[in-house]
Amino acid sequence: MVGKVLRVQKTSKGDAQSKSINDPILSTHDRLLWGDIEELVTATSKEILAHSYVQHVMRPLLASEHVDAGKRVLVSREFLEGVATQTLSQRPAWRVDAAKVDTLSDSALLISDHSLFQHGDIKQAPCIAVEIKPKCGFLPCSRFIGKENFMKNNTTRFKMHQALKVLQGEISNTSKYDPCDLFSGSRGRIRQAIEALFLTPQNNFRIFLNGTLVFGGLGGYFGGSESDAQEALGRLDNALMGLIHAGPGQRINCCHELLAEILFKSGALVRLLEVQKLDKLDIEGVIHAYFNVISQPCRVCKDLGEELSQIYQVLHSLSLKESMDIMKNYLVAATAKDCSLMVCFWPVGVGELETHDRYALLHSTSQKFYYKSSFIDLDMKPLEKMYYYYELDQKIVSYYTSQIVKEACCN
Ligand SMILES: [Zn+2]
Repeated sequence: MVGKVLRVQKTSKGDAQSKSINDPILSTHDRLLWGDIEELVTATSKEILAHSYVQHVMRPLLASEHVDAGKRVLVSREFLEGVATQTLSQRPAWRVDAAKVDTLSDSALLISDHSLFQHGDIKQAPCIAVEIKPKCGFLPCSRFIGKENFMKNNTTRFKMHQALKVLQGEISNTSKYDPCDLFSGSRGRIRQAIEALFLTPQNNFRIFLNGTLVFGGLGGYFGGSESDAQEALGRLDNALMGLIHAGPGQRINCCHELLAEILFKSGALVRLLEVQKLDKLDIEGVIHAYFNVISQPCRVCKDLGEELSQIYQVLHSLSLKESMDIMKNYLVAATAKDCSLMVCFWPVGVGELETHDRYALLHSTSQKFYYKSSFIDLDMKPLEKMYYYYELDQKIVSYYTSQIVKEACCN
């Protein structure tokens, strides 16, 4: 089991107990939407659903070499109770409270541990894995974006969301990371993006050494200041000693260079961007197709009034099939905007390299590294969250726009 992770199902405190284990997990509308994929429609647990979604929807889009859907294995109740007891002490308190292991489940998902190089022996040389949550890498240009939301055409969603997160106390500093740099396909801009992620990792960037977290936050949240990050960088520089043949203080720079080279070569982000771009209409267009799919009067058009909602009538006259296709593309793109990429690298030993192996050259030290990149967290986004997504989007843009206006007035 070395190099494998077992993903067990969790139950949230608020989960309804009334659901029978043979009931489908998807809502009626989601079943309508994904009706052509039987494995999704008939899924009776979250983990069967997650597995089928990765296998049948995301993997074909993102290329099989970058996605491991995992394998379902049967587990006993006693085993899951053992897991629950073991993990209780290791989880941060707020997570223990939010969810616990579902001991009534009869299976779990066995997946590769992407923080370890699969066939490597960690005794020989350390293995570094970097987890990047890239977020949306393009600017929308849909004609359905409201005039007052023009900011969307020239500012990334990531940047705008940062401002709201500061207001809500979720983060203390805004990040200089720009997703468009990471997805740019240019070595220089990719490197810029990586340097920014090193400075403010937030929940977008983590580094593991032989499977253990050495940089970035646990539980998806990094609340530290820039000086905390600097301290962590110092520790990381030391940890890289056996791996990168450069002097103290130089190894982090080499790490930037190597990561940029790997991301440039692997092509994984090019693929991811294509999937993200399946969202052609932006949420401001898609939300109208959503009301078509659930066959309810459109709340957005109602709020806009007769005159302003005119341009959306073309969306409301689409067929159900057309509306469903728009919805599915949007939800798949939403998964692609929220997933993470695991990049794992490992030094090539003397005389070890085969011509077919994937490797990247670190020019600064003339070292060669094997690498592997895999997407994780490819969960399905449920239809019922659409209106929430719409409201959040409006909140993010209007707050950012108000801040820009305020700044312009002060200057
Ligand atoms: Zn509408």
